[in-house]
Amino acid sequence: MPLTDKFGRPITDLRISVTDKCNFRCVYCRSADPENHKADHELLSWPELDRLSRILLGLGIQKVRITGGEPLVRPGVEDFIARLKSLGVRDLSMTTNGHLLADHCDRLVAAGMDRINISLDSLDPAKFEKITRTHSFSKVMAGIDRAQASALRPVKVNAVLVRGLNDDEVEAFAEFARERDLIMRFIEFMPLDADRHWTRDLVVPAAEIQRRIEARWKLEPLPHDRSETARKFRFAGGRGQIGLIASVTQPFCGFCSRIRITADGKLRTCLFSKDDHDLRYMVRNGHTDQDIAGYIREVVNDKEEGHRINEPDFVPPSRTMVFIGG
Ligand code: SF4
Repeated sequence: MPLTDKFGRPITDLRISVTDKCNFRCVYCRSADPENHKADHELLSWPELDRLSRILLGLGIQKVRITGGEPLVRPGVEDFIARLKSLGVRDLSMTTNGHLLADHCDRLVAAGMDRINISLDSLDPAKFEKITRTHSFSKVMAGIDRAQASALRPVKVNAVLVRGLNDDEVEAFAEFARERDLIMRFIEFMPLDADRHWTRDLVVPAAEIQRRIEARWKLEPLPHDRSETARKFRFAGGRGQIGLIASVTQPFCGFCSRIRITADGKLRTCLFSKDDHDLRYMVRNGHTDQDIAGYIREVVNDKEEGHRINEPDFVPPSRTMVFIGG
């Protein structure tokens, strides 16, 4: 029987963080401290990740997204993807910051990856450097070029909008999607940043983004699966698409189908879970696959109904984005 929680939601999507290391230090995610990551022995090894993936696929997981930190900084990620594909994952994707993408793209395609999400939070090189604390703008653009020239489809570009930082670029990002015929997704800033700077005032609501784009171009809604995070639109009579991920202002938890494994082997049933469930301990202390599958079923059954960002008692989780993996 596929994984289902107590609200009857089928859990078919797994996000696997293969590392908490990253070559960027985006201001809405990581702290400025480059050493802000766990020791290697604390992270799941590839054989441990293979084993947990096999168990979760046996429990009905169909879609797998590889995340980080930055997944491409961990050697061996393409081989892991090839092993996942050979296990029959229906839909295999990755979220990357794009810095290493141009170099890895062919190997990712050869390994069987289907599609890709590339983070790009500004089209202005100077602002890009301010946000990511790197000089990687041209590398990321080369990564997007390489992905669009490859078999990966669709190619989605994600921008986290922060009021006063890059919200002035909404129209430029929309134009970028039209010019490049790609899917430009706007993500509302979530309270998962390491420096705890998040406030509601810094959130640019999806409704505002849609209004501003529709002031310039006609958008046509596209059908979307209820469990998908983005509401999708295409430009009437034009190229490119827009996606709006309104986690804060229009939560989509009611049909959430996602669970996550962190790089240090914790199962998280929600991005905003207060609790971690230690699969690494079970993998390293003689538990059978059946034990682990049984434990996962129990934990998933108790999956949170949703995040409580809009509730007066909301407290951000102790784990921040780079240690969860989006
Ligand atoms: S906040 Fe949690 S429950 Fe809501 S969509 Fe995200 S992971 Fe699912």
